[in-house]
Amino acid sequence: MIPYGRQSINADDVAAVLDVLRSDWITQGPAGEAFEASLTALTGASHAVAVNSATSALHLACLALGVGPGSMVWTSPNTFVASANCARMCGADVDFVDIDPRTWNLDPLALARKLQVAKRNGRLPDVVIPVHFGGQSCDMRAIRSLGQEYGFAIIEDASHAVGGLYDGSPVGSCRYADIAVFSFHPVKIVTTAEGGAALTNQDALATRLRLLRSHGITREPTLMEQPGTGPWYYEQLELGYNYRMTDLQAALGVSQLKRVSTFVSERQRLAARYDRLLADLPLQTGYSIDDAVSALHLYPVLLVPGMAGRRRAVFDAMRTGGIGVNVHYIPVHTQPYFRRLGFKPGDFPVAEDYYSRALSLPLYPDLGDAGQDRVVATLRAALAAAGAPG
Ligand SMILES: *Cc1c(COP(=O)(O)O)cnc(C)c1O
Repeated sequence: MIPYGRQSINADDVAAVLDVLRSDWITQGPAGEAFEASLTALTGASHAVAVNSATSALHLACLALGVGPGSMVWTSPNTFVASANCARMCGADVDFVDIDPRTWNLDPLALARKLQVAKRNGRLPDVVIPVHFGGQSCDMRAIRSLGQEYGFAIIEDASHAVGGLYDGSPVGSCRYADIAVFSFHPVKIVTTAEGGAALTNQDALATRLRLLRSHGITREPTLMEQPGTGPWYYEQLELGYNYRMTDLQAALGVSQLKRVSTFVSERQRLAARYDRLLADLPLQTGYSIDDAVSALHLYPVLLVPGMAGRRRAVFDAMRTGGIGVNVHYIPVHTQPYFRRLGFKPGDFPVAEDYYSRALSLPLYPDLGDAGQDRVVATLRAALAAAGAPG
């Protein structure tokens, strides 16, 4: 089975992890600091706080921005559930903003309309979490300017977009956001097995992210509330978590980040090749905005509207043919948990229409031309068998 995504591990990655395993520090040691330095070097952000998952990074990002009971957080319905769950973990309310039918990212026009209504109703969001779906940045200039007008903070969920660019700056630079979040799950662009990071240019947010990552505990005398009683002394200043990344993971991350531009350029080469090979098929492919360079985490294709009812048949034929296609994403608001909060099908029709016709084709650096040719041949046959218009 050709999977839809997978990690790319080489001998250097293996050696880097083994080195840590043989060293004095397998967690909270120098590899963690080196990984954070690699992340600030990649993005230009002032601070990187590495944690055990992007889900944890999103949770800490919300907490650092003061999200709590009574807060309102908005995100895209076309995302993994973690982008919305982070607000619920803080006891906050969640709402969604529908997507743009071409980029499949949070639509700034829908955001502007929803903000006008929310202002009249006195329920503006405290935080908006745009998600760089598939690796292409959202329209961050538009979202930032709405943030300034309506007074909300911004967390970029850049889980898909490590190694991408927006407006000439690396994704994660936080030029248009308070905090940006990366994921290092094996299907993402670079991996630490499990792992994530929160990046920011604001010193106070970085301090809070670090504090909350490790139980709310500090050993930093300038942060303490009471006089220290000895070298063993530490203070718990608030309720935090153990969201730390191990040095084994961080060393893998350092080694992987050395190849991030190779990973992204190979994904881009394969995506451009898909664009050419699929051009005569009845499919809508991704739309690239002018001021972004996508990291190409995903390569979704959309069946033409008339074929929405046959997505299942195409999916099954691909899986039977050994091609591990997937579907990203089930609109978050239609999940049972979110329905219990009052959301229902029909609430975000663009995301729902997208979902009804979407298929993610395999895309990862080691897919290779031969693997890709197999995907395309299988898709061609699957579409014909499902009665696609020629
Ligand atoms: C993968 C993903 C996450 C969660 O990442 P983990 O590192 O697995 O916690 C969050 N948001 C989006 C958009 C993702 O794709």
